[in-house]
Amino acid sequence: MRMILVGPPGAGKGTQAARLVERLHITHISSGDMLRAAVKEGTAMGQAADGYMKAGQLVPDDVVIGMILERIAKPDCANGFMLDGFPRTIPQAEALDAALAKAGVTLDRVLMIEVPDALLVERGVGRRNDPETGKIYHLKFDPPPAEVVPRLVHRKDDTEEAITKRLTYYHEWTAPILPLYQAKGILRTVDGVGTPDEVTARVTAALAQ
Ligand code: AMP
Repeated sequence: MRMILVGPPGAGKGTQAARLVERLHITHISSGDMLRAAVKEGTAMGQAADGYMKAGQLVPDDVVIGMILERIAKPDCANGFMLDGFPRTIPQAEALDAALAKAGVTLDRVLMIEVPDALLVERGVGRRNDPETGKIYHLKFDPPPAEVVPRLVHRKDDTEEAITKRLTYYHEWTAPILPLYQAKGILRTVDGVGTPDEVTARVTAALAQ
């Protein structure tokens, strides 16, 4: 299975991706995680991306496209992959299409997780990531156990200001890629409002269609 997970910031892509890749035995590729790792390591790409990310802006297409196309060409993607956070613009979607066509493979599904904007700022501001297990908590909706709290990380771009900016970018640049996949008949949309388990049940049903 080769698939893409799309949705606004805070829709639950990371949470659902972690559950799905375990079940489907495919490689999870999160462009945001890869960029955060590059920033942490201080690579040239990380240094170029850091300012955009902190401000909640999109990292330039050429940087992200190169990073992802190189990644999906690795052997662990031969049996399938789940792209999470990429593509986020029409040029990214076109570059992915061209690379897959060149490799003689096709995308099976694009799964869109839909959540109204009004809920997303609260979801983002309360989000905390566990760097040890990769688990994503929410201070109110999915409170972390006391023993993990000291090591939790609050992403720099999970402030109200940056989330609002990321939402604007989502609507302006990312939502327009959806009709491309609708036209191919591979787009499935699920309601992302509810508990993670409720959303997983909807995701599973949508992928089977
Ligand atoms: P995410 O973890 O998917 O929310 O991504 C965090 C940040 O990384 C975004 O706000 C962007 O600054 C950057 N980023 C991640 N993926 C992309 C992408 N496909 N295109 C441009 N910027 C990206």
